[in-house]
Amino acid sequence: MKKLIKVRKVNNKRFKITKFFLLSVAALIMIVGLGMIIPLKPSANTLELAVNASSLTVNTKGQIEGFRTQMLDSWEDEAKQKGIHDLPKRYQGVTLNAVKPNSKDKIIALTFDDGPWPKYTEQVLDILKANNVKGTFFVIGANMKNMPAVGKRIVTDGHIIANHTWHHWYHRLSPSIAAKEINDTEEIIYKVTGVRTNLFRPPGGVLGNGPAAYARSKKYSVIMWSADSHDYKRPAAPRLIGNVMRFSKPGGIVLMHDGGGVRDSTVKALPEMIKKFKQQGYRFVTIPEMLELEDQQLAIAAK
Ligand SMILES: [Zn+2]
Repeated sequence: MKKLIKVRKVNNKRFKITKFFLLSVAALIMIVGLGMIIPLKPSANTLELAVNASSLTVNTKGQIEGFRTQMLDSWEDEAKQKGIHDLPKRYQGVTLNAVKPNSKDKIIALTFDDGPWPKYTEQVLDILKANNVKGTFFVIGANMKNMPAVGKRIVTDGHIIANHTWHHWYHRLSPSIAAKEINDTEEIIYKVTGVRTNLFRPPGGVLGNGPAAYARSKKYSVIMWSADSHDYKRPAAPRLIGNVMRFSKPGGIVLMHDGGGVRDSTVKALPEMIKKFKQQGYRFVTIPEMLELEDQQLAIAAK
């Protein structure tokens, strides 16, 4: 009898070991399988996703618990960190060049177009960082492809990245080309940064040649400007600052360029411009922050 029990115990132990082994193999196959299903993105998300996958638990039925929620949570966390929100409904599919905040709310948005660009984009990023200012960058798809590291830094530095077409064409585009200009740029921004943008600025501010209409049909907000620095004319820094300050008011959107040509005057003027705005009691917001603030104020006013 004693002997029998011993044998049974041993068998039981063997059975347990085998069961554990089989479950481990099953778990391993599940995790490897998932790894193949998850599309690889050359972005910060990949690492985050990999970290999350390693903390997954497999229950006795071999089901993976918590995978979907963890994936959503990580995305939402990351989106929150980057200040990405769904645009309030009233701004989806519309064109605007400023908002009207409450009288005491001195907000202003700095926007930079045509990057990423060698030297200048990083100089602008350095200045914004040193002054703890967040801006909005309307990037060109082809430039994102050429300079992904700089494009990615825009997002990792905490700025908002937005769509400015792939080629920066001004002429009339067929509906399919206009769509491609915007969709390809949306995709390269996503591929490089892990961010999906819903903000669009048409090259040259041209609204009637196809891309802006397509962007609105995709529920993008088409963002123009209220204060043009005319920095593409390369004015001396004081003149550039004057251009901006003269047309700036609370809720305004400032247009500058970090790419597309020689931008030394923009880089030179930027620190002084930031100082002037601060002296006048302004605070800097990104375009999504600006829209959200006005949306909240309008919602309160409507009550
Ligand atoms: Zn442009």
